[in-house]
Amino acid sequence: MSCPFCSIETDRVLLSSGSVIAFLDAYPITEGHALVTPRKHVSSIYELPSTEQSELWDIVAKVRLLLMDRFGVESLNIGVNDGLAAGQTVDHAHVHVIPRRPGDVPDPRGGIRWIVAEKAKYWP
Ligand code: 5GP
Ligand code: ZN
Repeated sequence: MSCPFCSIETDRVLLSSGSVIAFLDAYPITEGHALVTPRKHVSSIYELPSTEQSELWDIVAKVRLLLMDRFGVESLNIGVNDGLAAGQTVDHAHVHVIPRRPGDVPDPRGGIRWIVAEKAKYWP
């Protein structure tokens, strides 16, 4: 099967560098949901040499600032589904950068803890 992240449409590109490209998710869970990927097709970001991992996280930081500025948000979820059991559906490594806004869900407490819904809530 062809990889959607090996051929990203230019109108989706937010930022790029020598080894990294950042673009808008085609099925955003909030407005501005972005993905940061290595240009190289690898399943896990941890298959990349450390220099390219650093470049990737540098672009994540830049995308975070770009989204905060462009959409006026102060909060984001930033995360990686690293492997099938962790929920990864596209086999080209990527970091999700997801703007969050007050009231976008009734109770946002716990954030990414909700990947295991029955254990997410630890507060009384
Ligand atoms: P995963 O489940 O692997 O962590 O996330 C895959 C992400 O890729 C999902 O958020 C999904 O919306 C996004 N996605 C799937 N196909 C495409 C595509 O063709 N183009 C773009 N821009 N995003 C895609
Ligand atoms: Zn790919």
